[in-house]
Amino acid sequence: MHTGTCLCGTIHYEIAGPIGAAVYCHCSRCRKANGAAFAVTAPVATKDLRFVSGEAALKSFSTPEGVHRVFCAECGSPILSRRDSAPDIVRLRVGTLTTPLPQAPAAHIFVGSKAEWFGIHDGLPQHAERPLSP
Ligand SMILES: [Zn+2]
Ligand SMILES: [Zn+2]
Repeated sequence: MHTGTCLCGTIHYEIAGPIGAAVYCHCSRCRKANGAAFAVTAPVATKDLRFVSGEAALKSFSTPEGVHRVFCAECGSPILSRRDSAPDIVRLRVGTLTTPLPQAPAAHIFVGSKAEWFGIHDGLPQHAERPLSP
């Protein structure tokens, strides 16, 4: 069982299944949403995620393409994103985990739009966008 919270502690979640391969996402939307060089996200089965508390405090920012970024309305912590086109998974923002991430992030994605001030200094694979299969 994995658990996590937002910054203010209003939102507590549990994940009763595996956490998929995490990636560093350098796309401009993630940079804006996190106020940082990248987001670190990992896929989790929607059915495995349960909000123990604070679900009513979740707010979403949605695009016309059906991408929803879900965050704590009290403190702004980004919690996950989900897509109407892929309802069976959510992409967890793994920085909100309280329990350890089972494996370190495996790749950089959307490197083609990364912040020019951020240098990547590891040997992980770099993808210009999102690879078709992770
Ligand atoms: Zn919060
Ligand atoms: Zn992104």
